[in-house]
Amino acid sequence: MEKRILLSSPTMHGDEMKYIEEAFERNWIAPLGFNCDAFETEVSAYLEAPELHALSTVSGTSAIHLALKLAGLKPGDVVLCSDLTFAATVNPISYEGGVQVFVDSERDTWNMDPVALEKAFEEYPEAKIVMLAHLYGTPSKMDEIVAICEKHGAILIEDAAETLAGTYKGRKCGTFGKYNALSFNGNKIITSSGGGMLVTDSKNDRDKAFFWATQARENAPWYQHEEIGYNYRMSNVVAGIGRGQLKYIEEHRDRKEAIYHRYEEAFKDLPVTMNPYLAESRPNFWLSCITINPGVDVDPMDILEKLTAANVVARPIWKPMHMQPVFAERDFIYVENVPVGEDIFARGLCLPSDIKMTEEEQQYVVDIVRSCF
Ligand SMILES: *Cc1c(COP(=O)(O)O)cnc(C)c1O
Repeated sequence: MEKRILLSSPTMHGDEMKYIEEAFERNWIAPLGFNCDAFETEVSAYLEAPELHALSTVSGTSAIHLALKLAGLKPGDVVLCSDLTFAATVNPISYEGGVQVFVDSERDTWNMDPVALEKAFEEYPEAKIVMLAHLYGTPSKMDEIVAICEKHGAILIEDAAETLAGTYKGRKCGTFGKYNALSFNGNKIITSSGGGMLVTDSKNDRDKAFFWATQARENAPWYQHEEIGYNYRMSNVVAGIGRGQLKYIEEHRDRKEAIYHRYEEAFKDLPVTMNPYLAESRPNFWLSCITINPGVDVDPMDILEKLTAANVVARPIWKPMHMQPVFAERDFIYVENVPVGEDIFARGLCLPSDIKMTEEEQQYVVDIVRSCF
């Protein structure tokens, strides 16, 4: 195909320009400003949790970092965290000198396994923070995870970077944790070109994060510093793009959902399984993925190669964190003979889920995948 079929690229609507132009007209180009304030209010309203306070940040990763600082992470502290995820979920733990203990996935959502989490608390009863990522748009088993965190008096941080607009029992992802991180990176369900948001129910904590994110400047007539700060604020121009995009988040989710179900239908008779989700949840279907059924002699990397040769972008499943050389020293807790995350990584593939992909283009992708069986 002449046109490249993408995994998940920005889809702009034109409304975003209105907010950018306003920022230019008012010469409000610097970080902070009316678009940041409004974007925070609008995202909080969208999350349908009016008690929430949001802080727009330069990235999802910096929001995760601020969340960990708010949770009180100190050097040497253990954080029980998702194993099958993007490195940005767990890298900020190292920024603070914390120690990742990776917790395996379960098969129903590919997210953190509550049984493995309980086992992790048995081995690390001193753990005070749980870092949970919802993978590929699919909400985790929240009732179980929240109950386990409460039982052990641990603070839950949700990495909802991939799952904004996803719901569990009608409640939006990004509202279950004491601290929650969102991302508006270019490949996510909506984008501000780059950026993130920290969401918490504590106004005090939001203000503390704002302080750290703006270079930790104390309230004094001169530049007074009593703590280490960061330059983590979103720019007012970028926030304008985010405001324009937020209006389309449901539409983006619906179009991603249609892509997922078209793949599901097209692969009905193949020995593959779509990335699963719970009946009581509604994913945002950020990426459609398949796993090749056990015992079937097809290598997902061969499918990936064929797709690449045909100008189609596919991706391997995230390589589990416990398999990453940089985390070789870290502990990994799992409860099945073969860790679930390793198995999904070995048998899985992310397919193009770009909402600008036409049905004909998706059929082209389907035909290539089918030709591998
Ligand atoms: C994208 C992503 C992040 C990081 O967000 P950025 O805005 O790119 O810093 C964090 N966690 C997960 C699971 C992600 O997919």
